[in-house]
Amino acid sequence: MFSRYFSRNRKIILISLIAGMLSAFIVGGLQLGLEQHKREDRYTALVNNIQHWLSGYLNEIRTTAESLQPLALDECHVAAGELTSRAAFTINVRAFLLVKDQQAFCSSATGEMSMPMKDLVPDIDLTKDTDMVLLPGTPMMPNKPAIAVWFRSPLLEKRGVFATLNINLTPYMLYISQRPDLTGVALSIGHRAVSTFSPGLVDLSTITLPPIRAAHIEGSPITFYLYAKKWRPEDIQFAVLLATTFGMLFGLLTAYILQNNLTPGREILSGIKRDQFYVVYQPVVDAKNLQVTGVEVLMRWKHPTAGEIPPDAFIHFAEAQQLIMPLTQHLFRLIAHDAPRLKTLLPEGAKLGINIAPGHLQDENFMQDIRQLSRSLPAHHFSIVLEITERDMLLNEVTARFEQLREEGYETAIDDFGTGHSALIYLERFTMDYLKIDRGFVNAIGTETVTSPVLDAVLTLAKKLNMLTVAEGVETPEQARWLREHGVHYMQGYYFSRPMTLQQFTEWRSPPFSALL
Ligand code: C2E
Ligand code: CA
Ligand code: CA
Repeated sequence: MFSRYFSRNRKIILISLIAGMLSAFIVGGLQLGLEQHKREDRYTALVNNIQHWLSGYLNEIRTTAESLQPLALDECHVAAGELTSRAAFTINVRAFLLVKDQQAFCSSATGEMSMPMKDLVPDIDLTKDTDMVLLPGTPMMPNKPAIAVWFRSPLLEKRGVFATLNINLTPYMLYISQRPDLTGVALSIGHRAVSTFSPGLVDLSTITLPPIRAAHIEGSPITFYLYAKKWRPEDIQFAVLLATTFGMLFGLLTAYILQNNLTPGREILSGIKRDQFYVVYQPVVDAKNLQVTGVEVLMRWKHPTAGEIPPDAFIHFAEAQQLIMPLTQHLFRLIAHDAPRLKTLLPEGAKLGINIAPGHLQDENFMQDIRQLSRSLPAHHFSIVLEITERDMLLNEVTARFEQLREEGYETAIDDFGTGHSALIYLERFTMDYLKIDRGFVNAIGTETVTSPVLDAVLTLAKKLNMLTVAEGVETPEQARWLREHGVHYMQGYYFSRPMTLQQFTEWRSPPFSALL
């Protein structure tokens, strides 16, 4: 039972561990997923904002350029003033250039000029209505990448407005520095890109990190990229902390619930409910005529998983769990149920030896329970003998109860005599009907010495105290013969019969035990 108890504990620990770990994984996973989801939402919002801002800005540039188109018809000295002021008042514009016959002839920054566009911006396609390229720099700011935009005049061929725009990634850098999950942004036109990773213009293919978002800016060849770490260390740390805390709490809760539901106490109650307990009867024979004069009732527990559990184990548990009372009440019901059949198997006046745990005996309801049992037995057939072990005799309340029982006509027996602390003092003070000699003494007969001085002394004592003796654990004819010769009144043991179920008892035919006669 104890090893079962520990294996039960081990089972509880194991289940709780698994439950704790599973819940930790689920909680940790959910937390990470949730955090990821929130981040995804933030990225989408961020990219949407940038997309919105950029396309708005490009529209503004387009409108400004459209309003500048008429200037492309003028001479530079006429147009320059207007050009310069428009460039100054349009945000992020580095310069506006007026183009005629593929030649830039007027700049908002430097005034009159003459430079073939193919020298200035070789990649731009002047035949298109609008075109856009990234430049590594402009003549005035050679190392600062810029966006070059071409707007062809809708009226006159080979004329138009050309603008260079600053690309300022500083705000993004500041933003990224605040957000440890973000690693960078990039802006590309065709295969060229500017990014927060390096100061100049680079080929897009040199940025090997996969972007977490890529957004096309409507009405332009610009694509905006956002780069971020897949997992943030803080998120993982937080998820692990949350998972550990939750897992531990859930594991403890599981252990608590299991402990409460799987404790032996609970199992005993559910065993009663599910009818897992049954009784066996062991015949007790009269030493003189070797006839069965009674039985001792012994309880058995057929546990669905642990199998047959011996009474020594579960009785102690029932006592420790304060469940001995319901268990004995259940035993009484089982006896009452068998009694009509028992009556046909046992002579009138047959003794029913019932083991009583002190816990129950002390209880104030015990008298009620025993009266109830005796009422439920067939009238005037059985005599109830309550057996209590010697060590339990040391409890004052128990001995007082024995007095009361005798007054009401129940017989009493002191069980396992000689094994516990000596109850001799009580034997003198209280009258008991039977003294059951422990099988340890009976065992010794015929093995150690021919005579058994302790047993002799016990028998003499019993005689002096006017008690009837029952020898327990008689296993051989030699033991039985010795006991008879020494005046033992009753005998019980495997030699006569093992404890039997009611069915086995019904089929049992008591042999004559002629070897003893
Ligand atoms: P016990 O009252 O001393 O019961 C006698 C025990 O000795 C029984 O063990 C019985 O099967 C065993 N026995 C009988 N003849 C022989 C034999 O010749 N050789 C050997 N080796 N053993 C023999 P069991 O049924 O395992 O019960 C063990 C103990 O559990 C009992 O000892 C009793 O103290 C307790 N018990 C059993 N049923 C109940 C019950 O219904 N209520 C209470 N409170 N205790 C019970
Ligand atoms: Ca007994
Ligand atoms: Ca005994």
